[in-house]
Amino acid sequence: MARVCWLCEKEVAKGTPLKDDQVLSTIREGKKKLGILKGNELVVCDEHLEAYRGKRKSFEKKLVLYATFAVIVAIGFPLLPLLLGGGFQLEMICFSFILAVMILALSILNYVPALEGAPQERQRAGRAVALEPKATEGKPARKTAAKPAAPKPAAAPKRKKGGR
Ligand SMILES: [Zn+2]
Repeated sequence: MARVCWLCEKEVAKGTPLKDDQVLSTIREGKKKLGILKGNELVVCDEHLEAYRGKRKSFEKKLVLYATFAVIVAIGFPLLPLLLGGGFQLEMICFSFILAVMILALSILNYVPALEGAPQERQRAGRAVALEPKATEGKPARKTAAKPAAPKPAAAPKRKKGGR
């Protein structure tokens, strides 16, 4: 089994393996059925690790954007006739649901898989990697007295910037 870099598609001696997640295994299943499965081990070579990280980051940001857009479409479109003075329309609900699914499917088109052994924190798309998970989830009771609501306004604009 050849080891192939996911980014440059060249055979490499070593690299960081990609995590075999749902999307990748679905793609593999599809290729198997089409008979075009190469059966290579997908890695990211050291040379392209930095480029990969940038891609993955922008994908995570895009995914949040797409998901937000899909939710707005799924909820907003059925409400639109109501705002215009009409009643609920079943066709509109079906249409907006299909549209939302299509938007999510679009985001898969430029899918960038995660690396094997990546910490779970990185999987939570949208959350800045720089933020320490301990600071947000740790012990809020003691530190809130000393710094009331200080971390929250600092975190909020960061998240907004990342979204855009
Ligand atoms: Zn490479």
